[in-house]
Amino acid sequence: METTTVDVLVIGAGPAGTLAASIINKGGLKVRIVEKEKFPRFVIGESLLPRCMEALEEAGFLEAVKAQGFQEKFGAKFVRGDEVCDFNFTEQFTQGWNWTWQVPRGEFDLTLAREVEKQGVPVDFETAVTDIKFDGTNSVTTIIDKEGKESQIKASFILDASGYGRVIPRLFNLDRPSNLPRRKAFFTHIKDPLRNNYDEPNRITIVVHEQETWIWVIPFSNGLTSVGFVGSPSFYDKCKDLTTEEQLRFLINSEPNIKERFGDKEFMFEPRTLEGYSVTTDKFYGDGYVLTGNVTEFLDPVFSSGVTLAVCSSQLAANLVVKQLKGANVDWEEEYMQPLTSGVDTFRTYVMAWYDGTLQSIFFAKDVKPEFKKQICSVLAGYVWDKNNPFVYRHDRAVKALSNVITKCI
Ligand SMILES: Cc1cc2nc3c(=O)[nH]c(=O)nc-3n(C[C@H](O)[C@H](O)[C@H](O)COP(=O)(O)OP(=O)(O)OC[C@H]3O[C@@H](n4cnc5c(N)ncnc54)[C@H](O)[C@@H]3O)c2cc1C
Repeated sequence: METTTVDVLVIGAGPAGTLAASIINKGGLKVRIVEKEKFPRFVIGESLLPRCMEALEEAGFLEAVKAQGFQEKFGAKFVRGDEVCDFNFTEQFTQGWNWTWQVPRGEFDLTLAREVEKQGVPVDFETAVTDIKFDGTNSVTTIIDKEGKESQIKASFILDASGYGRVIPRLFNLDRPSNLPRRKAFFTHIKDPLRNNYDEPNRITIVVHEQETWIWVIPFSNGLTSVGFVGSPSFYDKCKDLTTEEQLRFLINSEPNIKERFGDKEFMFEPRTLEGYSVTTDKFYGDGYVLTGNVTEFLDPVFSSGVTLAVCSSQLAANLVVKQLKGANVDWEEEYMQPLTSGVDTFRTYVMAWYDGTLQSIFFAKDVKPEFKKQICSVLAGYVWDKNNPFVYRHDRAVKALSNVITKCI
C-alpha cells in the first residue's frame, strides 16, 4: 500500500482543522489535511463570535474571509414576546474584537481550506480516515479516497478535528454522553426580502418561543437568512403528522416575532434536523494525538460558541504540537485540557442558565447595571478566558447571584 510520511496529520478541513494546519505549517512542520467530504459542503454553525477573530488572524485567514463580503455581526439581540435585550459587542468589558461575521458555512469553510492550501498545506478532499494504529506517539493512519483506493500516512502526531465524525473517540471508545438533556434543532435558509423592515441584519436574533424552546435568526449578506428552532424532541410532536416543510411553516407561523417576516417566504432547502448533538469525550489528548473543535465537546447552539471554541482550541493545540515536535516538553493536562475546559465550563453555565430561565430573568430585567451587562456581553463575545471578568472567573456564582437580586426586586 502507498505510504506517505508527515510530521502532523490533521483529520477534517472544518475551521478547527484548517486553522490548526495553518499554525503547524507556519511552525515549520510538514502537515497534511485529510477531509472526507467534497467542499463546499453543508454544515450548520453560521454565527461566529468576536473571539474567533484572534485565531483567524494568527492563521493569516482574516483577509481572505474579509474578501468574501460576508455579513458583519456586531451583536446579538434576545427577544421574548415584546421584551428585547440587545447586546452590542462594542459595549463589552474585555478588550478585544467587537465584531465578527454571520456566514454560510459551506463558503466560509471553503475559503479557509483554499487559504490553507495557498499557504502550502495539501488537503485531500473526499478522502476519509478509516483506521489508526499508534506505536507510542507515532501512528499509521489508513485512508480511503473516493475511488476506493486505500493508502497510509505515517505521522509523528495526529490532530483530530473531525467534528461530528469524532474519528479518534469512535475508534478508541472515548465517547461519553454530555450532561445536557437531548435537544433537537430544525432549520433551513429562507429568502428574506423584508429583513430591513424588522431588524438590522448586522446582528443575530434569538427569539424565546417557550422557556426551553428558542429560534435563531441569522441574516447573511446574500439575502438569505438562516432560521432554526431548538427544543426538546417532544416539542415537535404537535406537528409530526405534517410534511417536513409544513412542520417548519407551522412552527414559524406559531411565533408572532417571526411569522410576518418568514411565514410565506421561500425555503432554500428542505428543512433539516439535528438531534442529540451534545457529546464529549473522556480526554482531549493522548500519546501522539490531540482532539480539537467539536470532537472535544459540543454543548449547545444558543450562544454560537461552536466555531469559536473550535478555532480557539485548535489555536492552542497547534502551538503546543509545534512546541512538542520541536523538542520541548508539553504538559497537555495543564497547558491544554485545563484552559480549554475552563472556557467550555463558562459557556456550560450560561447554556444551563439559559434553559432553566435564570439567564432569561437577567436578560429581560428592566434595570440591570450597565457594568454587569458589559461583563455578560464579553462572555457572549467569546471572551471566556478573561479571568478579570467576574462573570467568567466566578461564572456560576455571578449568574445565580445577579438573578437572585433581580428576582427579589421584582
Ligand atoms: C443546531 C446547531 C446549530 C449550531 N449553530 C452554531 C452557531 O450559530 N455558531 C457556531 O459557532 N457554532 C454553531 N454550531 C456548532 C458548529 O456546527 C460546530 O461547532 C463547528 O462546525 C465545529 O467545527 P469543527 O471544525 O470542529 O468541525 P466541522 O465543521 O464539523 O468539520 C469537521 C470536518 O471533518 C470531516 N470528517 C469527519 N469524519 C472524517 C473522517 N473519517 N475522515 C476525514 N474527515 C472527516 C467532516 O467532513 C468535516 O468537514 C451549531 C451546532 C448545531 C448542532
